[in-house]
Amino acid sequence: MIWSRFGVSVEGRPLEAVTIGTGLRRVLIIGGIHGDETEGLATIGPLAEHLASSPALREVTVCIARDANPDGTAAQTRGNARRVDLNRNWPASNFAPGRSRGIQPLTEPETTALHELIGSFTPELVIVFHSTPSGPFVNYDGPAERQARAFADAAALADQRWRVVPNVGYPTPGSLGTYMGVDLGVPILTIEFARKHAPDSAWDAVRACVDALLSAPRPEDANPETTPR
Ligand SMILES: [Zn+2]
Repeated sequence: MIWSRFGVSVEGRPLEAVTIGTGLRRVLIIGGIHGDETEGLATIGPLAEHLASSPALREVTVCIARDANPDGTAAQTRGNARRVDLNRNWPASNFAPGRSRGIQPLTEPETTALHELIGSFTPELVIVFHSTPSGPFVNYDGPAERQARAFADAAALADQRWRVVPNVGYPTPGSLGTYMGVDLGVPILTIEFARKHAPDSAWDAVRACVDALLSAPRPEDANPETTPR
């Protein structure tokens, strides 16, 4: 498995991604974007290994971006090395300039590189790992309710705390979720692990969910003659 560099952080750390599979459906998984939310990062290595041997990868191509904020991860800070929140720096309709969000969208090398990766990979589903003290839950933007329920249902088999939370309850101007989901109409799941989520249980949940998502047919593929109502 060959991880390739798709960009470089403010402090010169590589931004790495790997693409696995040959299928027509295209899924982008981002291991982390807030440097103090590393619970999902630990699942990325096992996830890549697991996907590499998955028969579902004949139908799906998965691109995994390991960590969109390696400087923040190294410093254990939410933002990047310039203290910009990389999940508020997107050209979304609700972008609001500010010290922690950038004076305009895509001011940071990390968001610029990820934006280019998204443009070239053209995912039809995006999954981004975060964590919060009120986790674990699945939040979504855009036409992603079905995928959010599939993810939470599968994760709940491993840990019954998992649930869907459609609205996080606070504004997120310039977020990747608003840009991809609301503005571009690409389903995007924001996966909120519980803060300090046990690595084994986080991995169990991710494996179950990704398998469920990859094996599920798209609604437009289902035959209306045989689909139960
Ligand atoms: Zn976060």
